[in-house]
Amino acid sequence: MTAAVSLQNVHKVYNNLTVVNDLSFEIQAGEMFGLLGPNGAGKSTTIRMLTTLTKPTQGQIEVAGFDIVRQPLQAKQNIGVVLQQTSVDGDLSVWENMELHGRLHHIRNPQRQQLINQWLEYVELADRQGDLVKTLSGGMKRRLQIARALLHQPQILFLDEPTVGLDPQTRRRLWEIILDLNKQGMTMLLTTHYMDEVEYLCDRIGIMDGGKLISLGTLAQLKSQYGEGLVMKQVGDRWKYLFFPDLPQANAYLDRQSDKTGMMVRPSNLEDIFVELTGRQLD
Ligand code: ADP
Repeated sequence: MTAAVSLQNVHKVYNNLTVVNDLSFEIQAGEMFGLLGPNGAGKSTTIRMLTTLTKPTQGQIEVAGFDIVRQPLQAKQNIGVVLQQTSVDGDLSVWENMELHGRLHHIRNPQRQQLINQWLEYVELADRQGDLVKTLSGGMKRRLQIARALLHQPQILFLDEPTVGLDPQTRRRLWEIILDLNKQGMTMLLTTHYMDEVEYLCDRIGIMDGGKLISLGTLAQLKSQYGEGLVMKQVGDRWKYLFFPDLPQANAYLDRQSDKTGMMVRPSNLEDIFVELTGRQLD
């Protein structure tokens, strides 16, 4: 089976600075893949290359079976893109934004109108279609971006930090939409620096730091690789983390200590693994 997305030894260099460094991974059709990493890790640059907005300096990328450098138009026809910067036009109405995108993709009427109605209904913006986009809330704008990205019926959806800056309720609503689209068969790649987002949404997680993929797997695989049991030990004003294969072994370690002051045991989570891998907390 051909992968929906494939990167092989991809590098991106800006002014002698390597911002994506030898990145290789695949996303299978129907998969929800999360790229997690701190600011500056190279996530947006990766999405920009995958969506043909910038070319890799070196390496090969295929999206929906098309080489993004040699066949960018075919690749673009098969992908929907929701970028971090809200790219909808505030001075146009909701409907006009959809109409413009539909025309750019050469979708003819009556299909264009039918698809606009369908996707605006889906993201619950049908009743706002005459309103100027600048009057919408942040969450509504993001839902419009998603509706617009889906209009030309792509197979793969790329979402760059889809819930950044949104309130918890609005994030949950977007998560529902993202999960529902994935359930309908959409392949998705999302970037985020929120641990809970990848834990909740993603089948597999790639952790990026300093332009490199430093870990890759399902949450269960990552936990079993690094350890499911954690002993936290307070040293001065910092916590030291000790990983154990499981909770009973972490508890056994604690039991063996004569002085248990400032120590506690708990199951490990993705954030612990991230800190262990990078030596850093996320923002
Ligand atoms: P992330 O999305 O993980 O926060 P980015 O891909 O945005 O990371 O950025 C990775 C690095 O590449 C950063 O150091 C950033 O300053 C640099 N960078 C991104 N775009 C450009 C550009 N157009 N020109 C020069 N440097 C860039």
